[in-house]
Amino acid sequence: MFDFSIVEKNLKDKGYEVKVYETLKEAADYLDSVIDQTTVGIGGSGTVKESGLYERLGAHNEVVWHWMQQPADDARVRAMNTDVYLTSVNALAETGEMVSIDGCGNRVASMLFGHRKVYYLIGRNKLEKTYDEAVWRARNIASPKRAQQMGRKTPCAVNADKCYDCKSPERVCHGMVTLWEPMMGMEAEILLIDEDLGL
Ligand code: SF4
Repeated sequence: MFDFSIVEKNLKDKGYEVKVYETLKEAADYLDSVIDQTTVGIGGSGTVKESGLYERLGAHNEVVWHWMQQPADDARVRAMNTDVYLTSVNALAETGEMVSIDGCGNRVASMLFGHRKVYYLIGRNKLEKTYDEAVWRARNIASPKRAQQMGRKTPCAVNADKCYDCKSPERVCHGMVTLWEPMMGMEAEILLIDEDLGL
């Protein structure tokens, strides 16, 4: 089992609820059991997609996700007004800071405000030792992979190596958010998962 003990302690010290799971399936089983008869928004996340939670939670909740519903812009707005929100992050520092880069901003906006509770599903591959390394990961690993996944003709996607801080009209990185600790007035629970998940 991956050693999450230091980051788990640091996140708890910051005020997050934290749970550790060996598999994404176990984390999804937990969320499917505690999120019931409510409204759920989902941010762009390969981890959440892989979890099957859109389908599972949709059986007993009202779920909104712009990756699965059209028009996507309308779904983005509706997802901002849900009771619960599910997302991942682009990087997590062992010291407890979470870093995310966004294009439209809906995902990072929901991390900051508007929901009763946000759940973060985070695979072991997102973990870095320091905040600076977490920022580096978000910019040079997660974002280029996302640009590539979206078929963008950005230098990071073409060369598949690093961020070029490009001026491309197809740039996917428009804002970066660091969560130092849970936002005031919003519950936040982090599920650390011993699998490589998402970008
Ligand atoms: S800023 Fe441009 S080069 Fe850097 S990761 Fe984003 S899209 Fe790629």
